[in-house]
Amino acid sequence: MQFAGLGLAEPLLRAIADAGYSRPTPIQAQAIPEVLQGRDLLAAAQTGTGKTAGFTLPILHLLSKSRPQGQRPGRPRCLILTPTRELTAQVEESVQTYGKYVPLKSMVMFGGVNINPQIAALKKPLDILVATPGRLLDHAGQKTVDLSGVEILVLDEADRMLDMGFIRDIRKVLALLPARRQNLLFSATFSDEIRTLAKGVLNDAVEVSV
Ligand code: AMP
Repeated sequence: MQFAGLGLAEPLLRAIADAGYSRPTPIQAQAIPEVLQGRDLLAAAQTGTGKTAGFTLPILHLLSKSRPQGQRPGRPRCLILTPTRELTAQVEESVQTYGKYVPLKSMVMFGGVNINPQIAALKKPLDILVATPGRLLDHAGQKTVDLSGVEILVLDEADRMLDMGFIRDIRKVLALLPARRQNLLFSATFSDEIRTLAKGVLNDAVEVSV
């Protein structure tokens, strides 16, 4: 399996070549074509499997193919929720690496730091928002972020988010999103709690496991 066969646009294949990747990892080979088709995805994948590229690459493809006119500031088209500040930074780095040849804007948002620089950053146009749930809700409450334009939702390391007690925050975020959207859920483990969350979030999801 080669990256060129997965259906990704040329600017993404160029960024992959720059990164020095010769072939997709198993999670990438399974997930990327399904996400490109617009399917919801339930993925069992640990860190180190290449899962981050598995969702960022097709998301960058989809968002760059359908660019809405007159995009508003602080209104992302893709929301990626992660449990920690470190993980938001890692995901953002992947977005930057793989998105270097597509004109999409991203930002990270996490708690424990002054909110004002984030508020200032949200005054600019935004395609992809990588956030931890608590700080995202603070912004939503202050109306500094508008989640009504989210077309794609990713719950990354969902099991860790539940372990850290984020389930109520996640449910509050879900209530702020449009009903019609694509959903991707990644988790290393599959407890009953994860299955319940998945059932509530995903529609007719493809399941992939590595
Ligand atoms: P992740 O599981 O998303 O945390 O990724 C683990 C590491 O694998 C990251 O450092 C990526 O840069 C690297 N990686 C992702 N996809 C590939 C690939 N297809 N070939 C080689 N390395 C990759």
